[in-house]
Amino acid sequence: MNFDAIVIGGGAAGLFCAITAGKRGKRVLVIEHNQEVGRKIIISGGGRCNFTNLNVTAENFISQNPHFCKSALAGFTPQDFTELVRKHKIAYYEKTLGQLFCRESSRLIVDMLLTECDKAKVQIKTGCSVTGVSRGDDYQVETSQGIFTAAKVIVACGGLSFPKIGATGFGYDIARQFGLKIVETRPSLVALVMEGKAYAPLAGISMEVVASSDDHAFRENIVFTHRGMSGPAVLQVSNYWRAGVPVSFHLTPETDVTKLLTANRTSRKNLNNILSEIFPLRFATAFAEREFDNKPLYQMNDREFDELIEKLNGWQVKFSTTEGYDRAEVTLGGVSTRELSSKTMESKKMPGLYFIGEVVDVTGWLGGYNFQWAWSSGFAAGNAI
Ligand SMILES: Cc1cc2nc3c(=O)[nH]c(=O)nc-3n(C[C@H](O)[C@H](O)[C@H](O)COP(=O)(O)OP(=O)(O)OC[C@H]3O[C@@H](n4cnc5c(N)ncnc54)[C@H](O)[C@@H]3O)c2cc1C
Repeated sequence: MNFDAIVIGGGAAGLFCAITAGKRGKRVLVIEHNQEVGRKIIISGGGRCNFTNLNVTAENFISQNPHFCKSALAGFTPQDFTELVRKHKIAYYEKTLGQLFCRESSRLIVDMLLTECDKAKVQIKTGCSVTGVSRGDDYQVETSQGIFTAAKVIVACGGLSFPKIGATGFGYDIARQFGLKIVETRPSLVALVMEGKAYAPLAGISMEVVASSDDHAFRENIVFTHRGMSGPAVLQVSNYWRAGVPVSFHLTPETDVTKLLTANRTSRKNLNNILSEIFPLRFATAFAEREFDNKPLYQMNDREFDELIEKLNGWQVKFSTTEGYDRAEVTLGGVSTRELSSKTMESKKMPGLYFIGEVVDVTGWLGGYNFQWAWSSGFAAGNAI
């Protein structure tokens, strides 16, 4: 069969691109090596898919070119996607901070995309692995089920995170093969591993903080793990974290800690008892013992007292590494935006070759931004092919 375009990868971006192009009368083939499409959608958002965010701006994305995502995001907005969700009568709700989740199951989003594919006459081949792409007059896509040819190829293979559900670095291989630059990749939206084991016994404890890294601050929860910290605040800062640079935690966003401690300046209580008024006791004890020998406030000199306040307002924590691609929600970095048109996602060097979704060096915050990038970049390419 002849196709106008072949989409490599049946994830969020690939399916949405195929739907958009199919609706315009293009004959599109999607090739997916898993036995079913959209596996990441299915497991996303704890099974409820945080499919977009009401407040999407370019500031919610990390990329070497922070302006690159603007055109695609304006061309297909969260409201556009939400309208489609509504049309398919999928119940959803705003959980927090503009994050829209399915009420029932993320499978409904995959069903919706498959219904739209059907309407747009998109052909889908699952259980079919793409092994190579070459360029003659057209593009030849070599797969485990033979060679397919089309004038346009859309690389929508995603990034390296969650290899157990089919993530591969194949998209980057194609980019390199055709001479496109890759911005160094690393796992992100991921738990961080602390230097030392001092806080390991606190695994499971959760606290609301303001976590900051590289001038970006997030007021959300942290959760201690056996190896470090997770929770939304830590996942958010993981997008900005650099090895060797500590992350700062304002531990008491709700409490005027100077006032509280000054009121207790002559107290004979051990520090952990005072801190347990604002923290879970286990954290208060570990923090007081490790950072201040659990001294009562009356025994602290002014320098120590000031240091305590400073630490509570900006606890500097060093992390040695991340929990890696096996646990990361996304891959930071990817195909350099300098190589692509921001309007169409087409390669500037290789006409007819497009890159969309996570494989591109555009990474969103936690909270539905990454799916919105998948829908918007897919839509941009789907309208261009
Ligand atoms: C656990 C988890 C939860 C998440 N939750 C959310 C959330 O709630 N909200 C949000 O916005 N983002 C979330 N994300 C991130 C989001 O899932 C991704 O950003 C998004 O799926 C990227 O879409 P994509 O189409 O670019 O890539 P993918 O969805 O990864 O799709 C790529 C597809 O290509 C296929 N593929 C790879 N190599 C080949 C090959 N050689 N041949 C054929 N097929 C191939 C893969 O099997 C895959 O199906 C989550 C991620 C994870 C891991």
